[in-house]
Amino acid sequence: MPELPEVETIKNNLKEKILNKRIKKVDLRLKKIVKSSARSFALDLEGNNFKDIKRRGKLLIFGIGTGHCPVPTNKYLLIHLRMTGQLIYQKNKKIIAGGHSDGGRDEALPRLYNDLSNKHTHIIFYFSDKSQLFFNDLRRFGVVKIVNEKELEEALNNFGVEPLENSFSLKVFQNIIKNKDGNIKAFLLNQKYIAGIGNIYADEILFEAKILPNRKVDSLKIEEIKKLYQAIRKILKKAVKHRGTTFNSYTDARGQKGNFTKFLKVYKREKKKCLRCKKGMIIKTKIAGRGTRYCDRCQE
Ligand SMILES: [Zn+2]
Repeated sequence: MPELPEVETIKNNLKEKILNKRIKKVDLRLKKIVKSSARSFALDLEGNNFKDIKRRGKLLIFGIGTGHCPVPTNKYLLIHLRMTGQLIYQKNKKIIAGGHSDGGRDEALPRLYNDLSNKHTHIIFYFSDKSQLFFNDLRRFGVVKIVNEKELEEALNNFGVEPLENSFSLKVFQNIIKNKDGNIKAFLLNQKYIAGIGNIYADEILFEAKILPNRKVDSLKIEEIKKLYQAIRKILKKAVKHRGTTFNSYTDARGQKGNFTKFLKVYKREKKKCLRCKKGMIIKTKIAGRGTRYCDRCQE
């Protein structure tokens, strides 16, 4: 599931490629994937363009504009990739893809490239320069909808702080975490507290902070809260810098192939020796309903 760093990377890549291009045609193949009116979906987009793309948590917000020097229409396309959503951009033979990759590693996408438009392709956006954007979703949990200004505001009200913004200070974090119950893993996954952290980064952050994922939030000492805050910033920043964990890019404009995979310390390392203390073992268990990994020695 793409988390903050992956969605941020997709956003940055698409911004370079699709902004202000005229949307010639929208092929909505699976009507129910669109959670707003499917009937007006194409009408709201065709002939218009994407004026800007923003990210809030794991949500992508495409501002819809109209005209040559796009004027906002005050309508927005929202895309949440959830578990298995993918956005794949293609122009001639250049492909930029982001989102879910079946194996969690690089193997899945090349197969998909050979058959870009397949049975999991639910929407195709055709641009006037002959480039295309595919929305694929194997398990169909993704959310796609068009909203107006007011509906956008309502949707964004559900999000907690953006952990990479300067306004997310230690003091802000201390206030958020104060008086919360439950375990720290569930706290980190709760989008209403901090937006954008999912299963992979929650585990990596807790490893970095040397805190066990099943610790009760109210048991954390002042020093541990500080460490946790620093770990959130450090891990997410580094992941964005390396263009996320599941992101795949083969013919990027800059020829880069981003991958945070090599920096992962606990994710998919169960039963292996801890890379930090060299004595502990990475354990996999279920916490907050999710597969959770931690070192049984150096996390307390
Ligand atoms: Zn360890």
